[in-house]
Amino acid sequence: MRIIVLLGPPGAGKGTQAVRISHKYGIPHISTGDIFRSNVKEGTPLGRKAEEYMNQGHLVPDELVCELVEDRVSKDDCQNGFLLDGFPRTLFQARHFDDYLERSGRELTVVLDMQVGQEVLIPRMAGRRVCKNCGKTYHVKTMPPKQEGVCDVCGGEIYQRIDDTEATVRNRFKVYMEQTHPLTEYYRNAGKLVTLDGALAPDVVFGQITDLLGD
Ligand code: ADP
Ligand code: ADP
Ligand code: ZN
Repeated sequence: MRIIVLLGPPGAGKGTQAVRISHKYGIPHISTGDIFRSNVKEGTPLGRKAEEYMNQGHLVPDELVCELVEDRVSKDDCQNGFLLDGFPRTLFQARHFDDYLERSGRELTVVLDMQVGQEVLIPRMAGRRVCKNCGKTYHVKTMPPKQEGVCDVCGGEIYQRIDDTEATVRNRFKVYMEQTHPLTEYYRNAGKLVTLDGALAPDVVFGQITDLLGD
C-alpha cells in the first residue's frame, strides 16, 4: 500500500508527475485543486464557497478542505493507497491528516517535495494550459498539444486557468512560502520527506521517483 503526498510550490510539476505515478502504481490521483475546480464548474455549494478564494490565489479554509479529503480517501478505491496532489497545504491540514491516518490504521509512505525556484515557476505558470474536459496539463512552449487549442487525449478545448496570471501566480507563491513551505520541516522531522529537484526535465524527475518507490 502506497500513500504518497506531493508537496511543492504552484508550478513545481506536481500534477504532471501525479498523472504518471497514479498510472504506474495504480493508485487514485487526488488533486484538491481539480476537485474544487470541478465543483466551481458545476456550481455546487462547495464550489460557490471556494471560488472567491481560488480566483485571488488564497487558500480555501482548512475545514472545507479537510472534510473533502477525508471523504475522498475513505472511498473504496483508496483502500490500497492513494496519491495526494495539493494537500496538505497548511500545518493544520497536515496534523488533521495525520490524525485521520492514525484513526484509519494507515501510514503515510512518503512526502515527495518538489523544489523549484520562483524564477523558473513564473514562466511555467504563465505558459500552462489545461484541457477543459479531461484536465490534462500542457505548456505552450515546452509541452504544446499536437494541434493548437485541442487536447491530444480527448479532443477537448484547451484553456488558461484564471488563477494562472502573473500577478496571481506571485501571490500564490507568497502564500506557498508562508503557509505550505513550513510543511517540509514538519515532514522532515517525521522522517517522511524526500526532496526532488523539480527544475529537471519531467522524465528525469519521474525516473527519480520510480527509483525511490520501486516497481
Ligand atoms: P497549483 O498546483 O497550481 O498550486 P491547485 O490546482 O493545487 O494549484 O490549487 C488551486 C487553488 O485551489 C489554490 O490556489 C487554492 O485556492 C485551492 N486549493 C487547492 N488545494 C488546497 C488546499 N489543500 N488547501 C487550501 N486551498 C486549496
Ligand atoms: P503543479 O501541479 O505543481 O502546479 P503542473 O504539473 O501543472 O504543476 O506544471 C506547471 C506547468 O509546468 C505546466 O504547464 C507543465 O506542463 C509544466 N511542467 C511540469 N513539469 C515540468 C518540468 N519538469 N519541466 C518543465 N515544465 C514542466
Ligand atoms: Zn483532454
